[in-house]
Amino acid sequence: MRRNLLRERWQQLPERVVRQLQAEQLRRYLRTVVLPFSAHYRDLFRKLGIDGDSIHTLDDLQRLPFTTKADLLNAAAHPQKAREFVVIPDEHVLARRPSTILRALVHGRNRVKKDLESEFRPIFLTFTTGRSAEPTPFLYTQYDIDNLTTAARRLVEICTTQSDDRLLNLLPFAPHLAFWLTHYAGTAAGVMMLSSGGGKVMGTDGNIRLIRSFKPNVLIGIPTFVYHLMHQAAEEGVHCENLKGIVLAGEKVSDGLRQKLRELALELGASDVQVLATYGFTEAKQAWPECPFPHDQPSSGYHLNPDLGIMEIIDPKTNRSVPTGEPGELVFTPLDARGTVVLRYRTGDYIDGGLVYEPCPHCGRSLPRLVGNISRRSEVREMNLDKIKGTLVDFNELDHVLDGAKDIGSWQVELRKINDDPLELDEVILHVQKINGTDESQIIRELKNRCIAHLEIQPNQILFHTAEEMQRLQGLGTLLKEQRLVDHRPLAKTTATSTTGLASSPNQETRPGAAAGSGIIEAR
Ligand SMILES: [Zn+2]
Repeated sequence: MRRNLLRERWQQLPERVVRQLQAEQLRRYLRTVVLPFSAHYRDLFRKLGIDGDSIHTLDDLQRLPFTTKADLLNAAAHPQKAREFVVIPDEHVLARRPSTILRALVHGRNRVKKDLESEFRPIFLTFTTGRSAEPTPFLYTQYDIDNLTTAARRLVEICTTQSDDRLLNLLPFAPHLAFWLTHYAGTAAGVMMLSSGGGKVMGTDGNIRLIRSFKPNVLIGIPTFVYHLMHQAAEEGVHCENLKGIVLAGEKVSDGLRQKLRELALELGASDVQVLATYGFTEAKQAWPECPFPHDQPSSGYHLNPDLGIMEIIDPKTNRSVPTGEPGELVFTPLDARGTVVLRYRTGDYIDGGLVYEPCPHCGRSLPRLVGNISRRSEVREMNLDKIKGTLVDFNELDHVLDGAKDIGSWQVELRKINDDPLELDEVILHVQKINGTDESQIIRELKNRCIAHLEIQPNQILFHTAEEMQRLQGLGTLLKEQRLVDHRPLAKTTATSTTGLASSPNQETRPGAAAGSGIIEAR
């Protein structure tokens, strides 16, 4: 069967074959799963006069409507909006299908009933971690968990983890994709994994004790918490010579941060440590890794699973797909999901190197890859942060500018209004952790120069903190997204309320989403 070709040779197919097989699989998936059993898409497609047979080539994907985060949010008129995206089969339709009848004849009715239950009955869920009013649930059936396991096993394989490795999962314990995908990655790949639950469950000290006793080869976590933990471990003289990999999830990873993590690993006695990023989101029910690469070369990007979904890059102005290798917004369509299903999901994430298909220069796999930097423009727009002090600021630059500064460790940018007066000027306060003995006035001078050169704004104040103070400021290890950027600017109107309650000062209204980090790639 051709579908098996896409599944079995997922890492060996050229662009033309991938696109052809994906179009075939999408047509079949729409015809047999989504359109008969998804209330939302059945009605929408009927209204638009399209069906599964509208898909002949992957270009025809553009005939399908987009789905956005807003489409999934419950509203007063639609209190169960998210439920309409769940695939709920009609038993009678299933029973009449020739494939069901044939399977019942071969394997018996009970076995078919059991299989269909495992395929369609939701048994597990994660939530989005966005800053929208309420998290949206994403339901999984056993069939989805099997696919999650497949994606997780490949992630381990691409990161070249060995069966005798010991993995320490530092992600916060939560009903979020990142934690559970990591859990399944360990069990699927048959490697020893310890999930500590991150800083909230065991604290920094508890996690350092685990590094001493468990002696992990691989650390998995959110960049800022992994940085904090390794810095603390190095201060305490901990040795972890067998550390060989750091796999990061939940936030964007800049080159400066990779370099700093490698330097910290060296202090722990581990040379030649790979720092690999992953990208994923709740709606995709999977995440994609980078493969190991030489430190003096760029990453070859995120390795996608062509059999589990289609990644499109679109021009957000025209909403049209862009050619291979062109930048644009990431749009995802699953090819084999059950439970909650969203088609052509607009992530709001932008990639500057686009989607490519040529064999990976580092591992040689032939599969679709996302190359370059991913940024979350939607967040900048949503937070109304593009203009600070009247200057257009590229917040994705922030990470590069501050992670790349050699004398500081973790950092946080805080936005305020002078005297908390909404009509006053913006104030930018930079909180930093000093990591070596360099003179503070010299660090201030250097940071101001870097900010002016790259961002065209200058912080009003630069405040120095200890590692513990920074941890408190950032909510390290307790939140899935650490607060590298907080907006404490009050709104001019008095009607807004904080959606998170995390970043608001007492007696002060904050704008929605004020607790967000900058340019975060989340595992939503
Ligand atoms: Zn590769």
